[in-house]
Amino acid sequence: MSLTKEYALKHHFGYDTFRPQQAEIIDTVLSGQDCLVLMPTGGGKSVCYQVPALLLNGLTVVISPLIALMKDQVEALRANGIEAAFLNSSISGSEQDSVQWKAKLGELKLLYISPERLFSGNTLDNLRQWNVRLFAVDEAHCISSWGHDFRPEYRHLTKLKTYFPDVPVIALTATADRVTRRDILKQLNAPAAITFEASFDRPNLSLTVLPGRKRTQQIESFLLKHPTQPGIIYCLSRKTTETVATLLQNRGYKAKFYHAGLPAPDRSKVQEEFLKDDIQIIVATIAFGMGIDKSNVRWVIHYNLPPNVESFYQEIGRAGRDGATADTLLFYSYQDIIMRQDMIIQSEQSEEQKELLHAKLNRMKQYAEADLCRRRILLSYFNEAVEQDCGNCDVCRNPRTRFDGTLIAQKALSAIARTRENVAMGMLIDILRGSRNRAILSHGYDQLPTFGVGKDLRGEEWAEYISQMLNSGVMDIAYDEAHAFKLNPTSRQILKGEKKLELVKFIPLAERKAREEEL
Ligand code: ADP
Ligand code: ZN
Repeated sequence: MSLTKEYALKHHFGYDTFRPQQAEIIDTVLSGQDCLVLMPTGGGKSVCYQVPALLLNGLTVVISPLIALMKDQVEALRANGIEAAFLNSSISGSEQDSVQWKAKLGELKLLYISPERLFSGNTLDNLRQWNVRLFAVDEAHCISSWGHDFRPEYRHLTKLKTYFPDVPVIALTATADRVTRRDILKQLNAPAAITFEASFDRPNLSLTVLPGRKRTQQIESFLLKHPTQPGIIYCLSRKTTETVATLLQNRGYKAKFYHAGLPAPDRSKVQEEFLKDDIQIIVATIAFGMGIDKSNVRWVIHYNLPPNVESFYQEIGRAGRDGATADTLLFYSYQDIIMRQDMIIQSEQSEEQKELLHAKLNRMKQYAEADLCRRRILLSYFNEAVEQDCGNCDVCRNPRTRFDGTLIAQKALSAIARTRENVAMGMLIDILRGSRNRAILSHGYDQLPTFGVGKDLRGEEWAEYISQMLNSGVMDIAYDEAHAFKLNPTSRQILKGEKKLELVKFIPLAERKAREEEL
């Protein structure tokens, strides 16, 4: 019997049928064409090059940036009876020799290699003698500086087609927006590649954004609905992971923190415990998750705002991989945006790169502040049009009401004008609400005619409306002047009554939660 792809799938991987697109992708690869595969995490990308590797008469070289994972991947393949090996800086000279011998003798079907290794020493010369029939570039977004995880060592791959013009390339990624996709093909010199795009929709994931106030308290009430289910809490700083994990431990949860500052053995141990359900909750920085194959993660919380939609989607994508329902929760406040913006400004990136990072952050912010179905916003970011609201996000469950907020905006804008555009969020709210604290008194702000004109609204309401004003562009913010608010031409139109402003009605947290719980 000749080896068919169906037979290979069944015999080596134990599956009866291909997932959507897998069969087509495999046929395309086998026909010798280049392709780009976009599939969410857990979608089944590996099969798309592993099955061809078994059917091709020669070697498939898999380029992957994740050296730490190569060993596991290769072991899993060997357990399935597939001849595979890896070459990277983590193995000894004699081990490398033995891998190279096997490759030379044609005893390997798959060889995993890091991009650094591929372009160092005599690897390329060797490869030419090893009958390479396919290159698979995993995590292909790393090649593009437009992506969210650019790795300079991936840039060497632009030379791949020069050395191997006749060997097809399959590039795979779970996260690439439109610009990044185009750039991947350009960088790989594979302009005619056929792009396969699996749906990014994960309808089993519920999407919720809540205002980032009293976050730990909100987490505790969230956990009442998930008392024993495994989940991940992502935090920006190592310190927060430790604080939150300790707090949850004190409340009786089996929680542990995980970040890159932990010694490697401790990290493996925590990861292992989570995989085996010995601990329920991992409180982690983004260091946690790459390549973790745990299918029953039932929820993911973002304690802080991720820097871009790609990262966010990848992280929530770790929940519900078994297809059963899972909940995701993102905390969002104005402060998170400021923190992220400052990180970009202070980073050592080129001006062009900073601009890109700001634009990506902005898209993340739009998602968090959306008053349209959040899934539609997410999917449109990945180029997927959706006809209907999803019914499984907080906006769908809780439609927003709008009202004429011109008067509110005028109060805030005139206070900004009176302070000569010198105040940031906290101070502005204190002026509007008429708080006589020391800072206010020392500036003489209590003497302003606008002092206390906004007493009727609570501080949190003001915070929300001022954020909405910023988002709709009726005022600006000066990041280099301690985030002081600035007036712009639109502000003046509003002040003069020449323009109106609609605001989305503020719903207190307790009420929002109560409504969610009714559903
Ligand atoms: P990705 O690399 O896209 O994140 P993987 O290739 O690791 O995803 O596949 C995710 C999971 O889906 C793995 O456990 C894999 O064995 C499984 N899988 C892949 N293809 C199929 C299939 N055709 N039928 C059933 N399970 C599959
Ligand atoms: Zn929705």
